[in-house]
Amino acid sequence: MIGISLEGCGRAGDAGATYNASMRILIANDDGYLAPGLHALVKACEGLGEIEVIAPEQNASGTSNSLTLTRPLSVFNAANGFRYVNGTPSDCVHVALTGLLDYKPDLVLSGINNGANMGDDTLYSGTVAAATEGYLFGIPSIAFSQVEKGWGELDAAARLARSVVEQVIAGGLGKPFLLNVNIPNRADAPALERRVTRLGRRHAAEGVVRQKSPRGETIFWIGPAGDALEAGEGTDFHATANGMVSITPLQVDLTDHAGLPAWRTRLAGAHRA
Ligand code: MN
Repeated sequence: MIGISLEGCGRAGDAGATYNASMRILIANDDGYLAPGLHALVKACEGLGEIEVIAPEQNASGTSNSLTLTRPLSVFNAANGFRYVNGTPSDCVHVALTGLLDYKPDLVLSGINNGANMGDDTLYSGTVAAATEGYLFGIPSIAFSQVEKGWGELDAAARLARSVVEQVIAGGLGKPFLLNVNIPNRADAPALERRVTRLGRRHAAEGVVRQKSPRGETIFWIGPAGDALEAGEGTDFHATANGMVSITPLQVDLTDHAGLPAWRTRLAGAHRA
């Protein structure tokens, strides 16, 4: 296997976690394989098991769960042992789990992202999508993001991430789960209170930015995300705004369960068998 094999590297006792040579961890991200957040996460997880990194060649933030279906994908080997794919975060994990790797990882990690993924962001996030792809294949998966862009206090965020990974490993990886972790950019991140939260909501995104290209064509930049709308107690927005690490357990069933009876009456009432 190409990748970063940390077996026998003697780091078992360094960070206090039990070294498990049989643990296999796949790490991806959406900021690209050169992103500082990815390197920090990989370094922080050294000693937890055998780590394989398969990440996008380029920044693929905001690509959500998209898979590349219109062209083939290539996998390249970076000098440091990482592998990178000319595709999306979901492509990376999908290719890894459907043939590139000859084993099923025990854990999929994504990040650490350059900026928050809270509330409605989770629907657009490539960081969350990479973890979601792992979850869809039945693997416990965790997405990590720093709340502020710019990589401030990244090492502290990485230590926090390792601590969360150690916690979930200690609790058992039997049943798949999907966690979305947002980490305040603080030097004391590992010591911050960890709050299990629900997703907040954002206001609708700000308007598209209309410009002229150098060739006189009208072009559009997607505008920034909206501010927090539902950010009350118990939400991810609230936790991080109050100096806590937010951990939101996610699921992928988009069904409006509460709305099913009303929709049956409205749309299917007259056509029931
Ligand atoms: Mn990103």
